Amino acid sequence: MNERILIVEDEERLASLLSDYLKKSGYETILISDGRDVLPYVKNNRPDLILLDLMLPGKDGLEIVRELRAFSQVPVIMITARVEEIDRLLGLELGADDYICKPFSFREVVARVKAVLRRSMALVEEDELRGISLDRSRHQATILDKTIEFTAIEFTLLEVMSSRPGRIFTRDLLMESIYQDGRVVSDRTIDSHIRKLRKKVHDILPEKEIILSVYSVGYKFENPM
Ligand code: CA
Repeated sequence: MNERILIVEDEERLASLLSDYLKKSGYETILISDGRDVLPYVKNNRPDLILLDLMLPGKDGLEIVRELRAFSQVPVIMITARVEEIDRLLGLELGADDYICKPFSFREVVARVKAVLRRSMALVEEDELRGISLDRSRHQATILDKTIEFTAIEFTLLEVMSSRPGRIFTRDLLMESIYQDGRVVSDRTIDSHIRKLRKKVHDILPEKEIILSVYSVGYKFENPM
């Protein structure tokens, strides 16, 4: 099946040229011109990559990536009209995967799209090697081919810890990652979420322990493979 590229661009002519060029290169394309339409689209459809213009009517590209990253890891290539803007964007650590400056050649865009898709495929393969893959939009993890559903908090805990296998996370650190409003909860709250998370894994994979307690410090994650 062809990979689907969502093009978010309000300059109609440019958008349709880009679309033609990508189609000729074997991709499917969808065009959106209003920034407000992007997140609802991504939630309901799952594009393989987004080409995202920075300046858009409705909602700008920065805001879109920020909100998008709360629920999706879809690769994003940001397009900006100013080369100086790229440094600033990089500094913001938005979670975009690449940046392209206008005016660009269509050939360059296709090359970047290919490279970013290849990288994201490699990450999927890495997940397969690790024995765990996470689906943020559904709060599900697939561990050794078994899919387990978690609550939002359990999922975040698993996501944070599994991003650094073997690293010890203190309860404070975990608390910060789940309560970004700076709320302080007791250590017991963290322990209780972890206990439920472990139980869900244990019910499905009784012989696997992926979250280990580190006595008096916190917890760490180990790859199931
Ligand atoms: Ca624009």
